[in-house]
Amino acid sequence: MEAHATAEQIEAVCAEIRAMGFTPHPMPGPTRTAIGITGNQGPIEQAGRLQRLPGVSQLIRVTVPYKLVSREFKEFDTVVEVGTVPIGGSGIAIIAGPCTVESREQTLNVARAVHAAGAVILRGGAYKPRTSPYSFQGMGEAGLQILAEARALTGLPVVTEVMDTETLPLVAEYADMLQIGARNMQNYSLLRAVGRTNRPVLLKRGFAATVKDLLLAAEYILAEGNPNVVLCERGIRTFDDGLRFTLDLSAVPLIKQLSHLPVIVDPSHASGRADMVMPLSRAALAAGADGLIIEVHDNPAYAVCDGTQSLVPDTFAALMQQLARIAAAVDRSLVTVGAA
Ligand code: PEP
Ligand code: MN
Repeated sequence: MEAHATAEQIEAVCAEIRAMGFTPHPMPGPTRTAIGITGNQGPIEQAGRLQRLPGVSQLIRVTVPYKLVSREFKEFDTVVEVGTVPIGGSGIAIIAGPCTVESREQTLNVARAVHAAGAVILRGGAYKPRTSPYSFQGMGEAGLQILAEARALTGLPVVTEVMDTETLPLVAEYADMLQIGARNMQNYSLLRAVGRTNRPVLLKRGFAATVKDLLLAAEYILAEGNPNVVLCERGIRTFDDGLRFTLDLSAVPLIKQLSHLPVIVDPSHASGRADMVMPLSRAALAAGADGLIIEVHDNPAYAVCDGTQSLVPDTFAALMQQLARIAAAVDRSLVTVGAA
């Protein structure tokens, strides 16, 4: 739409798109609103019906299959608000917390520590997708309640994983941001279901998924009407077995070129080793990541899950100091709590 198009003109275009049998997706930007069209197979016939409407600037054919997430559709970076914390734009948001909620004491301890060190969102799983059915599966609703208590204590918004559509209403009640784990990246019914909520979504890349697969997974969520998606590179499977996974840092600048969505990096799951988290975090910010998600535990040797990759609070605090300097070197800054 033109920069000065009115709300009535935008609605008239949406109405015409619906009359043509397609779905309109208006997306406001800093200078103008773009209206995505889905439901059409191939180029739109009778494009003149739209072109002639007042306020229309131009019709742009999106050439990639992931339409709504593409830069072709929306030129400017999307900023996703999690509580009051922005992800994307000029700030860099650091998410930290335990792999899983083990107890009230452990979660509140870690929440206090990462908050003091400057993390702006708390992570922690209450429903855990474990490779073995015999491993700890998470505390469930009791874990969600502990996360809510940690949020009340620190003011940090909470991101936690939702594993299936059955538990989605419950998890969405407690979570400020819904995490879709790597193993569920192509669970299309779950993607559609989170797309129908109004909660921001953290979508992790599957470990055998291409960047295109990831963008198409995000498209499922946007197509249902939820534009608040943050992508996460968390390591992929390659021939190299030196570490748990191979962090594909090239995905960060590639995604930033192809999509307007924010991208963060998970150096903890990518490497599986605490001593790799600091160098990979530094590299991720240098590569243009909009944030990091890092596992922290107050007593990693006793962690129920992912202890080998968890940082102790002191190391996390030292990492935060370094990250502030790296952010400045790439003309950005770490998001701080309370930032607009
Ligand atoms: C997690 O973040 O706790 C997790 C299970 O990550 P992933 O889905 O990337 O393996
Ligand atoms: Mn974990």
